[in-house]
Amino acid sequence: MLDLTGKNAFVTGIANNRSIAWGIAQQLHQAGANLGVNYMPDEKGRYEKKVRQLVDPLNPDLILPCDVQDDKLMEEMFNAIAQKWGKLDILIHCLAFADKEYLMGDYSSVPRDAFSKSLEISAYSLTDFARLAKPLMQEGGSIVTLSYLGGVKVMPNYNVMGVAKSALEMSVRYLASELGPQNIRVNGISAGPIRTLASSAIGGILDMIRMMEEKAPLRRTVTQEEVGNTAAFLCSDLASGITGQIIYVDAGYEIMG
Ligand code: NAD
Repeated sequence: MLDLTGKNAFVTGIANNRSIAWGIAQQLHQAGANLGVNYMPDEKGRYEKKVRQLVDPLNPDLILPCDVQDDKLMEEMFNAIAQKWGKLDILIHCLAFADKEYLMGDYSSVPRDAFSKSLEISAYSLTDFARLAKPLMQEGGSIVTLSYLGGVKVMPNYNVMGVAKSALEMSVRYLASELGPQNIRVNGISAGPIRTLASSAIGGILDMIRMMEEKAPLRRTVTQEEVGNTAAFLCSDLASGITGQIIYVDAGYEIMG
């Protein structure tokens, strides 16, 4: 039913086996897509090594360095995608960053540079991705990003990341409107809290997970696999009428008063 055979899917944001992007990559692979992934370049090449080992069983066509703050690397990544595949069908934007010290305490303590860095990496990068992907999606395509309830409602300690997610969610709508005539769909998944490298930087994340287990209609949190399944659905023809939406994969927590 959910068949992505022959589709070229590039997944960003895998850091390790807990990453939501890893859950998404596995589900896209299972549905038959050809995979490409990025790693975050660092001096010692630790991310590259980890990502290469992890994705090896999925036999990806492309493993490329990408830091979204580096214009040259971004351009090189999309050039490499164009060279290898000619066209891109699916682009997963699954990355974010905020300095740990501003993911706790008073929101108003965030300085201008930390605010800008967080918004640039976590929100602007989606717009940058869409602009660079557009020429490769002449036959249409699907772009999916990851958000969190803290972009819509005040969540403890989420602070500047909440503002970034708000910008990200609005970017989904503007991009969906702009790219829709080219049959490129743009959607977001608002995931419930999951223990990952990024979420461990958020003050009190374990309390949020406990709260989910107590209050969410399904009385549990969600898994990377569940988020991956929703991403695969959104990228498939089964979701051909859906664009500009933020889909909650949060065991129903968002509906609770
Ligand atoms: P993660 O730490 O596994 O992934 C974050 C990724 O962002 C890493 O791969 C990291 O390398 C990448 N990244 C950071 N700065 C970058 C840059 N400058 N250039 C390129 N890549 C960069 O954590 P995760 O929880 O899987 O996060 C993935 C996405 O899911 C994020 O957008 C996050 O906000 C979102 N999300 C997470 C949760 C959760 O509870 N874990 C809930 C909802 C949404």
